[in-house]
Amino acid sequence: MNILKFITESYRSPVFAGIVVLILPYIYSILAKKDWYSVFISIPTIFWVVLIIILVFWIISIAIRKKMSYGSVPIGFKPTYGWIDIGKLLYHDVIWKVRTINPGPFSNPFDTSKPSIYLENPPRCPNCETQLEIVDNYYWYVWNCVRCDFKKRTWDTFKKTEERAKLIAKRDIEMIEEEPQ
Ligand SMILES: [Zn+2]
Repeated sequence: MNILKFITESYRSPVFAGIVVLILPYIYSILAKKDWYSVFISIPTIFWVVLIIILVFWIISIAIRKKMSYGSVPIGFKPTYGWIDIGKLLYHDVIWKVRTINPGPFSNPFDTSKPSIYLENPPRCPNCETQLEIVDNYYWYVWNCVRCDFKKRTWDTFKKTEERAKLIAKRDIEMIEEEPQ
């Protein structure tokens, strides 16, 4: 873990900073040969108030970044014979293309297992169906359409939302299959 990651993503860093700030006046009192209690008393209250505000803000920032970090590294994957689109799903205000892997010309005709469901990622704009881009604004993401003015603020990555949308798509397909013929 590099230093930037430690500062922005680990709860240990604000705790560490808080401990250091508490220890510093004590070290100073030893070096300056003063009574540590009088050194602590001489620090104005506003300093402690500001310190607590900074630490709380820091901890909240880490909590938000942790929430935003889920699925922030996209895993690209493209099947040999491409995709077969089977439908569209509107979820989290955007359009998800539901699809399965094209088995290709050499597929086993006796394979009766159900094909796995995949969702296209990135999802598409609900207005013009252009694929969206994701912009990291540190405290939130913006899902942005470059073709029209669609914008959506969220703490969720495409990946996290895709996984949820996939559960819904799977259930939708099950319900179609369960319907009496
Ligand atoms: Zn659009």
